[in-house]
Amino acid sequence: MNVVVERGLARCPRCAATADYCFIECGTEAIRYEIECRSCGELYFEENSTSPTAFRPESLWVPPPAPAGEPTPGAQERVVAELRRWWAAALAVLSKLAERAKTACGSMPTWRR
Ligand SMILES: [Zn+2]
Repeated sequence: MNVVVERGLARCPRCAATADYCFIECGTEAIRYEIECRSCGELYFEENSTSPTAFRPESLWVPPPAPAGEPTPGAQERVVAELRRWWAAALAVLSKLAERAKTACGSMPTWRR
């Protein structure tokens, strides 16, 4: 037998207007929470078991969040290509500097690549 054990005012979860809520005892092992909104007609409810066997740890397990998204196709190749370009540019700069230093000093050891 269902018995209303508490009534009051709450906010509607849909439109945030003032709404009626009540707790209803459903037999001896469950309680139902209802919000009935007169403004938008929303009928929100939750049912919770009050029985000690209601605790199921597996129901509390939340899977880890999925990765933010699969990498864009070809993104890795573009990154590698960009790094190769930077590396080539850095080598060119270093080679120029080595040439300048060699010219300036005349006696610099030969750079090996
Ligand atoms: Zn509402």
